[in-house]
Amino acid sequence: METILVTKSSMPDFEEYIEEIRELWESHWLTNKGEKHTVFQNLLTNYFNRNVSLVVNGHCALEVAIQSLQLKGEVITTPFTFVSTTHAIVRNGLKPVFCDIDPITYTLDVTKMEELINENTSAIIPVHVYGNVCNIEEIEAIAKKYNLKVIYDAAHAFGVKYKGKSIAEYGDASMFSFHATKVFNTIEGGAVCYSDSEIGNQIERLINFGIQDEVLIDGIGTNAKMNEFQAAMGICNLRHVEEEIRKRGLLVEEYRELLSGIDGIQLNIVQEDVTSNYAYFPIIIHEEMFGATRDDVYEWLKSKNIFARRYFFPIISKLECYKGMYEKYETPVAVKISERVLTLPLYADLDINIVKYICNIILKRDRA
Ligand SMILES: *Cc1c(COP(=O)(O)O)cnc(C)c1O
Repeated sequence: METILVTKSSMPDFEEYIEEIRELWESHWLTNKGEKHTVFQNLLTNYFNRNVSLVVNGHCALEVAIQSLQLKGEVITTPFTFVSTTHAIVRNGLKPVFCDIDPITYTLDVTKMEELINENTSAIIPVHVYGNVCNIEEIEAIAKKYNLKVIYDAAHAFGVKYKGKSIAEYGDASMFSFHATKVFNTIEGGAVCYSDSEIGNQIERLINFGIQDEVLIDGIGTNAKMNEFQAAMGICNLRHVEEEIRKRGLLVEEYRELLSGIDGIQLNIVQEDVTSNYAYFPIIIHEEMFGATRDDVYEWLKSKNIFARRYFFPIISKLECYKGMYEKYETPVAVKISERVLTLPLYADLDINIVKYICNIILKRDRA
């Protein structure tokens, strides 16, 4: 039996990519906003329906997005995310304040947010976990009431639409990751979307050392520019992303059909008003009803060379680097979900028979 990993990077045909990068051997222009960067940026502006800055990876995109808004003090965020979200906050000298999550969407529980806000709070950084859309209306209302900025970590949400609008259109800024493991990739890569051109100027400067022009360097920036090879990969992959998402959708349909109605297995919510990108297929395994734990299922699959992921586990506040620092914010739902969640293999060219095979192992409680 071949090894099945939780994901597999989307790639264009070899010839298609070669054709796209051929010009680079003529121009010798490899980075610093070359032709490919310009083309890709225009394509994405159109795709997202918002201004977009291209960044070397999603993490740096989030770091510069936060820096560009000149936040201070505390930021309300979720502990149920990839570590990048919290690192970006802390590396900007800010304090993460963990709010618990909703047990159905796994995104911030907006009913628990206001009690965490004080005079030091400057922003909310929610995450569209698994591509599930946060409670945007409530978050916007709270942000407005307390005069807070909102930066969405939309790393999982490429291609998602909410109420017919691109998910990139929400918040003061929305950050995307184009990492190899995401629905859409530029090998490594990321972007920030925003409406305010002043934020755009800040971000463009921050990703290029704070350089304004040849002699004027008036910001303490970093180097986080997207290079031409990344942009070329993005141009190619963008041609196929709708088809990739469609194929993911078919596999998700199959998973749902085979795993729905099973005692103790909670499937991801199908949200109203949301066009999904089928980024992940998380299941929550409730031991009391299912009769086995999440880790049991993980091991059964592993013994058959199928590598599901405990994504996200542990929650951020329990990671070695943050242990004991932010524990005063109890987030029992996030703890529970993280101990029970397993994301199953999902990528566009995953064989539907493998999906059936995986479900069979789970349903038969196949320990062998
Ligand atoms: C992938 C990811 C990031 C970081 O993006 P990179 O492109 O890998 O740097 C940030 N937040 C979340 C939720 C992610 O999944």
